[in-house]
Amino acid sequence: MINKPLVFAATSDLAGKVRGKAFPLSDLESRLQKGVGWCPTNVMISCFDTIGDTPFGALGDLLLIPDPNTNVELDFKDGGPVERLMLGDITDLDGAPWDLCTRSILKAALARLKAASGVTLLSAFEHEFQFKTGNDMPGEAYTLAGFSDRRVFGETLIAALETSGLKPDTFMTEFGPKQYEVTIAPSQGVTSADNATILREVTCMTAKRLGENVTFTPIRDPDSVGNGVHIHMSFLNETGTPATYDENGAAGMSAVTGSFIAGVLKYLDSIIAITAPSDISYLRLTPHRWSAAFNNLGLQDREASVRICPVTSSDPTSIARQYNFEYRAADATASPHLALAAILHAGAQGIEDALPAPAVTEEDLTALPSDALEKRGFVRLPETLEQALLRFENNKTVRGWFPDQFADVYIAHKRGELAYLQDKDPSARCAAYEDVY
Ligand code: GLU
Ligand code: MG
Repeated sequence: MINKPLVFAATSDLAGKVRGKAFPLSDLESRLQKGVGWCPTNVMISCFDTIGDTPFGALGDLLLIPDPNTNVELDFKDGGPVERLMLGDITDLDGAPWDLCTRSILKAALARLKAASGVTLLSAFEHEFQFKTGNDMPGEAYTLAGFSDRRVFGETLIAALETSGLKPDTFMTEFGPKQYEVTIAPSQGVTSADNATILREVTCMTAKRLGENVTFTPIRDPDSVGNGVHIHMSFLNETGTPATYDENGAAGMSAVTGSFIAGVLKYLDSIIAITAPSDISYLRLTPHRWSAAFNNLGLQDREASVRICPVTSSDPTSIARQYNFEYRAADATASPHLALAAILHAGAQGIEDALPAPAVTEEDLTALPSDALEKRGFVRLPETLEQALLRFENNKTVRGWFPDQFADVYIAHKRGELAYLQDKDPSARCAAYEDVY
């Protein structure tokens, strides 16, 4: 059969979907300059393919310019086609970043962090997902048998991630039914969000090549466990040495880490509509599900929104290198770029305002009465997407971190998504999301 290889130029959009257009590989040089045409209203396409109240209508033209640093060329060597993908930035016709380009929004947030503190970010997204195909294997959480059952998948996935330019770390059987987890090494700047985007796509491609089907949906069954995205973060100073840890700081936090996390916790209720942006994200973000329900910092506590992760050394230099914290109130319905941008802006605000390091909790906050919670500055996070959207909508500081049009367009997009679900009960909502993520 005749064949001309195509490259898919893509954006990770407000719905956390990877959308774009393909062009012949032979045109790569010119497409790296002029990009492919893009339409503003595309940003209003919800994960359910509905279009909410669009401020753009049929008007306007944009460019999606592929970035060769994100070049994925993935040959599964199974006789099927080679996957070619490049992520890119959306600009107006004069080349200025578009207000709704998630990758440009992340670049601006990274620049703000650098300006506020001098540090750069090293981060990695840890993903959980579930198979929709195959038999349930009760009693196999974390087991060798559960792992062996998907060894072929795991080995193909790890090879596919490596071929795609990522550094695979681990693959494991998680606690939930047919639930697995894959981790990759951290990377700097915008690359970690690019890698998270690529990881989700490559995981779904791998499943498809093997006749399987996986979902990254936040939760499949309201009575079972969720699929989290845990975003691990640490800082490097200008000389490239670790800047996250201070052996004299509270729980080992350096001054910059303490203020950053304090900012994240202060604004968490107003950014969560961006990091956990689906209706059913809030079925996952409930107590005793090992996700996140309060704006607390935990020491090795898997119920905290932000957790200081363990280190495996007693030598201060190794500790400083390993020391990192993770944001747990995120899921894969969020664009990795947007989720990370929201966290970074909140953290940078904390640094700019020199907020003191937060207290570290090592207890079950649901056991505390509401006055005790309030006294210690803890709030229950929003319990629905609409509540979360209202917090974002009404928080002038948080809206102001983003380009002019962003908040209104984002909120309209999400309200359109909610409208699609309005007659559905929680199980039907879960079913709708697992079809599309
Ligand atoms: N599945 C949990 C979540 O929804 C996380 C479990 C873990 O700590 O790995 O975030
Ligand atoms: Mg896990």
